[in-house]
Amino acid sequence: MSNGEENFLNINMMNIKPVLKRIIPYPVAIKLRGGWQKFLKIIYQGNNYYCPFCGNSFRKFLKGGYPNPLAEKNKIAGAGRRSNMVCPRCYSTDRDRLIYLYLKEKTDVFEKAQKILHISPARSVKHLLENISHVHYETGDKFEEGYRDYYYDRDVVQMDVTDLPFEDESFDMVICNHVLEHVKEDIEAMQEIRRVMKKQGKAILQVPVALALSETDEADPGNAEEREMRFGQFDHVRLYGRDYKDRLQKAGFTAEVHNPGKDGWDKKYKELSINPLENVYVGIK
Ligand SMILES: [Zn+2]
Repeated sequence: MSNGEENFLNINMMNIKPVLKRIIPYPVAIKLRGGWQKFLKIIYQGNNYYCPFCGNSFRKFLKGGYPNPLAEKNKIAGAGRRSNMVCPRCYSTDRDRLIYLYLKEKTDVFEKAQKILHISPARSVKHLLENISHVHYETGDKFEEGYRDYYYDRDVVQMDVTDLPFEDESFDMVICNHVLEHVKEDIEAMQEIRRVMKKQGKAILQVPVALALSETDEADPGNAEEREMRFGQFDHVRLYGRDYKDRLQKAGFTAEVHNPGKDGWDKKYKELSINPLENVYVGIK
């Protein structure tokens, strides 16, 4: 396929999606999307990349992500518009596949019965976990304006990450990815997540981290336009730096940082098209 054709598949869909979402009822849209994804699976089939969520192989993944002027300058791993990001068949992203790899390599979630809370669940990871019979799986999200999208399933319960409706020590694992950069009281949110975790439980707490910054930039200008300029997205209230691990420790966690390259997952992260610079940040209670 030529570049021109691929740009048509990627960019034109980005432009007309908001219009289609307004006029097509959700169940119909899901059916249509399924048909479109089956078509993309055929167009992109090949042997270079593998998606562990749908079990298909492709010659390439779709482009994805939104342009972020700061992504390159501040070396924000996993941000900005990027190639080979989205699975054509199930729309899993590079971030989702990184979480899959971490779960597979570093946890016993596929073997051992456990309770998992998933806050703001990405669809592919949600579908994976809710279909493991020995996993008791709960989800929640705050659904700020613009976030109740097709990307999220409709059965997710409304909740606030700084005030979780669960008893102390309820979960073996909490997954809360790309949420804390939206939360003003992020340390409070981390402490609240820690509260509902069992001892030795794990929290996967991904955020965009600017690898070029030694310290987190917290000078929140308070309006959408300036936030976009300063933090790279209109609704982010800070830009985390390399001290993100210290903040997790400040909230009481023992922090672990896993890197696909350094952890010897090299072959797998290439096959899954994961950014080798993107770390997995885990808080242990
Ligand atoms: Zn897939």
